Amino acid sequence: MPIVAKHEKYLGLATVAGRSKKELFTGIVDRIRKKLKGWKERVLSVAAREVLIKSVAQAQLSYAMTVFKVPEGVLDEVHSMIMAFWWGQKGTERRVSWLRREEMVCSKMEGGMGFRDLKGFNMALLAKQLWNLYQRPNSLIATILRAKYHKHVSILDARAGYNPSYMWRSLMSALDFLNSGLRWRIGNGDSVCIWGDKWVPSSPELFVPSAPRGLPVDSRVSALIDPITEQWDLSLLENCFPNELVRNILKIPLRGIQEPDRLIWSTSKNGSYSVLEGYRFWLKKFKEENGVNGFGEEVVWKKMWNMNIAPKIKQFIWRFAREVLPTGDHISEKSQRHGDKCPFCDLRETQIHLFGDCQWTSRIWRTSEVADCFNYQPVQDCYGWFKQVMEKVDEETLESWSVMLWYLWKERNAQLFNGQKLAEEEIVIRAKYYLQDYKANQAKRREEPEVRVEKAWQPPLLGEYKINTDAGFGQAGGVTLGVVIRGEQGKFTLAAAKRLEGD
Ligand SMILES: [Zn+2]
Repeated sequence: MPIVAKHEKYLGLATVAGRSKKELFTGIVDRIRKKLKGWKERVLSVAAREVLIKSVAQAQLSYAMTVFKVPEGVLDEVHSMIMAFWWGQKGTERRVSWLRREEMVCSKMEGGMGFRDLKGFNMALLAKQLWNLYQRPNSLIATILRAKYHKHVSILDARAGYNPSYMWRSLMSALDFLNSGLRWRIGNGDSVCIWGDKWVPSSPELFVPSAPRGLPVDSRVSALIDPITEQWDLSLLENCFPNELVRNILKIPLRGIQEPDRLIWSTSKNGSYSVLEGYRFWLKKFKEENGVNGFGEEVVWKKMWNMNIAPKIKQFIWRFAREVLPTGDHISEKSQRHGDKCPFCDLRETQIHLFGDCQWTSRIWRTSEVADCFNYQPVQDCYGWFKQVMEKVDEETLESWSVMLWYLWKERNAQLFNGQKLAEEEIVIRAKYYLQDYKANQAKRREEPEVRVEKAWQPPLLGEYKINTDAGFGQAGGVTLGVVIRGEQGKFTLAAAKRLEGD
């Protein structure tokens, strides 16, 4: 076996972190770029692109992000590459991202696409490491880190210190974040300050808002517990705090004075930190700080994403409702390119014009089965239109209307880019059959579910033998056969394998 002096890369990551942090991640960034480039060369629907981004591209960085704080420049680069791919960049052409990053990371029920914010996910992963160190202070890694970096204080009070390693500095970068989501679970109350610590779950911000009346400001929560009954001292509470706070404190169960106070993760049910809970917590703050409250109502998005139509059409409807389709007006706003004319008439092409007001569209609507939906176009925005239709018609009509919109868009593109135009009746018929076929296929799939019952291997009965065989085709041609014979209780008797050359 050859012996290598230095393992250069492990899971795409250089094993020795040098001075340039960015260099450390070039391998991963290149790999993501290559993947995206490969995907770009294939014709992929938006729905397929979404799956690839979420399951492959964003996952590439996960390993590195568990150990290191990836520099923001690297994350920004990856984010822009992914967004360009998602919005349909061709070759090296520049494509505008139609929505801000803060909106794209909102969940689908908030009108976003639920893409992962990489910086937040990085924090959530690093915080998980800190949490593990806090939970298992006697583990080998915790012991080593404590000896080196935080001899006299808990990991939650540790500091980066002098000349720290990149890994330690990365962990410390997530400490404030972890601490911001922790709160105390009261045991005996000895470790928790009444004023300044977070310990009242039903109080806003989890704090006691002002110092207790009649007690020293640095009093501990144990001062509020009657040592004999081991219950809250009601009269003392009433003396110290306003009524509402007293009620909130009384809701906290007491576990007896033997129990130490513990820090727990404030938003999870069982108090333990998980990457998912951490990420959600981070995202909530991130959205608040950036003034993003989502777009539209959950009930509308839920209905939209639950429609029984092809995923690519749902993606299209999402773009329609968020008004981010590259219609003439949007293109000219973003790129100063001239020509925002509708391809079917001379008016300015807005989404409302194209799908509603244009003479061409109106004629098509009138001959279609979903002509009513056309009349529900109430206000000058497409989200409002979708919502209105959703409220007025049944699910099937909503689906037919959505497919019609998609066909109109396809036709518009064919006209604009290839100068091809279908007869108006033809569009209506195509849309109708497209949906019928889709539903028939779905129904067929439901009727013939792929059931594969995995039967566990059972040993043969007493005095019998069981023979299992297998055969496979080798990559270089030829066939390999294998056989195993086992006796009672599965006792191994004979195994053989043979390779047969030839075609
Ligand atoms: Zn027009």
